[in-house]
Amino acid sequence: MTLDLASGLKSFAESALTFLYPDVCQHCYGNRATRTEGYVCKSCWRHVRFIVPPLCDRCGLPFEGDIGDTFECGNCREMDLHFSRAHSAVAAQGMVLDIIHRWKYSRAMWFEPFLAGLLIREAAPALREGNWDLIAPVPLHPIKQAEREFNQAEHLVRHLSKATGIVAHPRLTRRITSTRTQTRLSRTERAQNVSRAFGPGPAAEAARGKRIVLIDDVLTTGATTSACSQVLKSCGAAEVCVWTVARGLIH
Ligand SMILES: [Zn+2]
Ligand SMILES: [Zn+2]
Repeated sequence: MTLDLASGLKSFAESALTFLYPDVCQHCYGNRATRTEGYVCKSCWRHVRFIVPPLCDRCGLPFEGDIGDTFECGNCREMDLHFSRAHSAVAAQGMVLDIIHRWKYSRAMWFEPFLAGLLIREAAPALREGNWDLIAPVPLHPIKQAEREFNQAEHLVRHLSKATGIVAHPRLTRRITSTRTQTRLSRTERAQNVSRAFGPGPAAEAARGKRIVLIDDVLTTGATTSACSQVLKSCGAAEVCVWTVARGLIH
């Protein structure tokens, strides 16, 4: 396909999107919101809860009230985590969680700029200072990816790589088994469920000696991102940190 034809098709797709989705907030349908705003209006924006300190030093779980300088939460003490540190931009609740579900499971792609924007806003300034070599997504099993038509983490990686200049590398790991949904499982069940879910990907060699930022949409206990980090470490990664758009607040 020539570049002209590709960009022509792209602008056709964009105008079709504008036709289907007028400048209205796709969450409350009551206020104006444009495509570049990710179709989320200013009043819905007020429901976004950013993750702010005090946080667990390891998994980034926020706490009420004062805690000491270094603190590891109950979640971390029960888990054998393989990433150095996990961070999330916002709390996975209410409007944000609803938007993530519609994006992931109903292909509401028009929300992507909003969700990627949340991640970039929090992650990009921190990552630019951190000497990170690569950004990689948590992979989906091919069957799941075929059903969903896209890997949400891979899309986030593309946006974050563009914003930070850190190289995106989507094939460092792969998903070997299609695990059942984690939603109703306890911490230890989640860890067992995903412990053998990942393996080295076709480009695993590229992980050797590298400091890698692993991306997913939501982190709850950290079981999934930890299992994926373990594979990256076994491939020789020097360090793996995790960034997600949202944090499930389990207690
Ligand atoms: Zn709204
Ligand atoms: Zn923790």
